[in-house]
Amino acid sequence: MAAQLLEGKKIASRIKEKLIQEIEKLSKRGIQPSLSAIQVGDDPGSKVYTRSQKKSCEAIEIDYNLHQFETTITQEELVGFIQKLNQDKKVSGIILQMPLPSHLDAFTLQKRINPLKDVEGVSPANMGLVVYGRPVLAPCTAMAVMEIIKSTGTKLYGKEAVMVGHSDIVGKPVTLLLLKEFVTTSVCHIATGERGTLPDYVKKAEILIVAVGKANLIKGEWIKKGAIVVDVGINRVEGKIVGDVEFEEAKEKASYITPVPGGVGPVTTTILLKNTVEATRLQSK
Ligand code: NAP
Repeated sequence: MAAQLLEGKKIASRIKEKLIQEIEKLSKRGIQPSLSAIQVGDDPGSKVYTRSQKKSCEAIEIDYNLHQFETTITQEELVGFIQKLNQDKKVSGIILQMPLPSHLDAFTLQKRINPLKDVEGVSPANMGLVVYGRPVLAPCTAMAVMEIIKSTGTKLYGKEAVMVGHSDIVGKPVTLLLLKEFVTTSVCHIATGERGTLPDYVKKAEILIVAVGKANLIKGEWIKKGAIVVDVGINRVEGKIVGDVEFEEAKEKASYITPVPGGVGPVTTTILLKNTVEATRLQSK
């Protein structure tokens, strides 16, 4: 039997319903969540993303402000602007849009965002809390992956998971968030691929998460029968967006699978809103 689709929009709308209630509670206390995005240059992908952030924020009455800068801005000038936003009581959340021009260092800039306003969950302080098993504002995509897995209602304790990809914003935090649920997780990366043992790991995964960015890297025949498959990858192939997993073949073996597009993406955007509301609540204590 074909897998059940893990549709991002449905999961996202359940999260949004709760957020609307939270925002109403804050509003009764005279508090307004507000997200500030910083964009350097005019990368087309980033422009699409900021337009969608604005629409999603405004739909649930979160203020959204986009601050755009020329690519000539220096690291010091940008640090100064981040500090200004850190001090502004009206700003609940700050997001630094990628990509940045090569003379700007994302890690150093993210380090300067007040951890209570770091709604992307990428500052060292927030990453550290994930390591300690006490996530507060954790990376949005990693949180989205967890929401999607939990939406299946599967008992996670003791399950075998495989995380393919070990990036700072997806693979590493997902691994730690799974560990918090007592899931036994193997992490695969480029060396696993080069050694040729990737299929061996994937074949034993009851929960498989893939965040690589290589179309059809994971073959359908490798999927364990009944597995939960979360495909984070976004790849453009012949004008179409596809994930990292061979979807049609994997769907016949998995019990649940995320489509690409329409799986992880919409949930990630909603977690950004959730983190903004959480940041507002934390700052209003
Ligand atoms: P990234 O930083 O480029 O990381 C990719 C990871 O894949 C790295 O850890 C890399 O290992 C590993 N890798 C590369 N080739 C491999 C292979 N043959 N076998 C096993 N592992 C391999 O990417 P990312 O930021 O995590 O994003 C991954 C994908 O998810 C991209 O397609 C991105 O567009 C997408 N994404 C989607 C969302 C969403 O909301 N839907 C959000 C974020 C990202 P090494 O570092 O060792 O080379």
